[in-house]
Amino acid sequence: MIRIRHLSKTFQDPDGSLLTVLKDVNCDIQKGEVISIIGPSGTGKSTFLRALNMLEPPTSGEILVDGENITAPGYPLHKLRQKMGMVFQSFNLFEHMTVLENIIYAPTELLHLSREQAVAEAMELLKKVGMAQKADVYPASLSGGQKQRVAIARSLAMHPQVILFDEPTSALDPTMVGEVLSVIRQLAKSGLTMLIVTHEMRFARDVSSRIFFMNEGVIYEDGTPEQIFEHPVHSATKAFVNRIQKLVYEIDSDEFDYLQIHTGINRFCIKYNITDKQDLAYSLTKQMLFEYMRDIRPLTVRMTHAELSGETAMDYMVENMTASPLAEEARKKLKTQVAELIEEPTTRGFRIKLIL
Ligand code: ADP
Ligand code: MG
Repeated sequence: MIRIRHLSKTFQDPDGSLLTVLKDVNCDIQKGEVISIIGPSGTGKSTFLRALNMLEPPTSGEILVDGENITAPGYPLHKLRQKMGMVFQSFNLFEHMTVLENIIYAPTELLHLSREQAVAEAMELLKKVGMAQKADVYPASLSGGQKQRVAIARSLAMHPQVILFDEPTSALDPTMVGEVLSVIRQLAKSGLTMLIVTHEMRFARDVSSRIFFMNEGVIYEDGTPEQIFEHPVHSATKAFVNRIQKLVYEIDSDEFDYLQIHTGINRFCIKYNITDKQDLAYSLTKQMLFEYMRDIRPLTVRMTHAELSGETAMDYMVENMTASPLAEEARKKLKTQVAELIEEPTTRGFRIKLIL
């Protein structure tokens, strides 16, 4: 369905210096594939999607869609825009139009649908994304998650063959990520071809038929979720997919703000979908800070989560200490609450690691 050959994109800065963002991208995308594009930031993922629908015409190379070369001079872009929808990180809804008007605008103007038909289709789509009850409100009154669901419905209203999603959940409050991912999951099952730039590794693994790992302006590694996440060939791919999310608090004195730590843990757990670990994380942190390590300051509290393996841990680190500060009684009590208790010296001090 889409064939990309030797795609490159070079930007010229105002001072004349050149920045080559896409180097030599080659790939074939079949109808019905759901491809997640992952990779460090600044490696050209957004530029790749924008080149693909000619928002950012490539510097060289060819893109064939259904056998037609869309990079050829004079290719009608309105035709491409109808085939290929795009959902942005920042929603890009028309703020002066209601939700319903946002959705029927392009179908009536560009596809020349009658208003009745466009409204009927729009209401179906709004039901599909769980937003039918908000048809007559303006975007300003919606939450980020609701706006993004409307943006997805608006894109679907053009009956595209492909939808490109550029980090559709990264501008959202963590509590709203799930509702948007679940809409995208549902679309993935419907057979629509989709390319999704995302940082949500578990989601990418579950929803995709194929993963592109982009790095340094090329598709560095391409494979099934199993190949990329479990048996990556390149060390850069391996390092990226196994990265660990961290939440860190430095506690210097007893003046610290426990509520801030509590809120931080709460948001971290929502963000990485580990709310089942939240109460234990609070409780352990409270015990460590106010009982077992009450007299030890400074202290670094760290929560870590390896998205792929799913391992979650709380670390409590003290500097300049070579033996464990835990009393035998505390050790016993902790062991009954956690999967594993690790006490280990580090290069700077000593760490107590509790695996939840
Ligand atoms: P990613 O989406 O992977 O984070 P981007 O595609 O947004 O990466 O950007 C890749 C690089 O291209 C960045 O260094 C960015 O600053 C640069 N870039 C993107 N768009 C432009 C532009 N319009 N003009 C100049 N440089 C740009
Ligand atoms: Mg980007």
